[in-house]
Amino acid sequence: MASSTPALRIEGLRKTYKSGLIALHGIDLTVQAGEFFGLLGPNGAGKSTAIGIVAGLVNRTAGNVEIFGVDIAHDPAQARCLIGLVPQEFNFNQFERLDQIVAQQAGFFGVSWRVARERAEECLQAMGLWEKRKRPARELSGGMKRRLMIARALVHKPRLLILDEPTAGVDIELRRTTWELMEQINRNGTTVILTTHYLEEAESLCRRIAIIDHGRIVEDSDTQVLLAKLNVETFVVDPESPLQAAPELDGFVARRREDGRLEVDVERGRNLNELFAQLQARGIVTRSLRNKANRLEELFVRLVGKHEARETEATR
Ligand code: ADP
Repeated sequence: MASSTPALRIEGLRKTYKSGLIALHGIDLTVQAGEFFGLLGPNGAGKSTAIGIVAGLVNRTAGNVEIFGVDIAHDPAQARCLIGLVPQEFNFNQFERLDQIVAQQAGFFGVSWRVARERAEECLQAMGLWEKRKRPARELSGGMKRRLMIARALVHKPRLLILDEPTAGVDIELRRTTWELMEQINRNGTTVILTTHYLEEAESLCRRIAIIDHGRIVEDSDTQVLLAKLNVETFVVDPESPLQAAPELDGFVARRREDGRLEVDVERGRNLNELFAQLQARGIVTRSLRNKANRLEELFVRLVGKHEARETEATR
């Protein structure tokens, strides 16, 4: 069966830093063309190392990396042309004008100055920064600086855009605007790989997710499949009047939140009507019920915790 070339194929990728620390223990990962892919993991898991190797910024100890079929060891220049990287840190010259920052980047990829300026205009327009093009970057707000980083990463029309924690530390409103931008870029045909600490972000944006922990991939599947692995779901019950205490329920575990609402753990397959009936029998009228967001968080904690337990076991 013919299959299209993946956007990224990583095989047996290892990285040992000079200090002797093994950051990646031979990871395998494939990201299909057109996907919105999430690479998740706790701090120090190896996400930036993996991304750094893919983008040609960090040397690997062993393993292979192909970008759209181009081996980064055989043709690093072509591989680099296929990738746009948005690193965590703002690494542009704060004193330069936006149009210069973006157009110069296109110049690094061998584009003529005339084309570079056209591309810079396209990207600045797309990121809502065209009005500011003559201003030095230091005058931008944090959110605008992040968009400038994205504009610059897109100027050579990469087929794969890699964003390292693009919404770290930004407020919720700005985070949502960035989500929309990333979705739009992906809809236009660019494969997107995102690392994030915000599991809610991965849950709403990424169709596939890999979880990395201590330099090993501990999970790699469709987001929905991942979420379906949870056999307990937590619901938030909004009662007509705030509760003073959590009721004792038969077969459900309920906790009272500080705001007087209830959080109830419900095993997969259990009928919610039974929960309503029990609450009603205890004089609690449910005004609304919603699925608690961040179910991925529960899974994440569980997976990472499980792995840590295995590690401890193995080193005993
Ligand atoms: P993440 O991006 O998931 O937070 P990193 O890839 O930055 O993780 O780090 C993985 C591990 O490698 C960590 O233990 C980190 O301390 C170590 N590390 C990262 N960069 C270096 C470096 N330049 N030299 C030595 N160790 C490093």
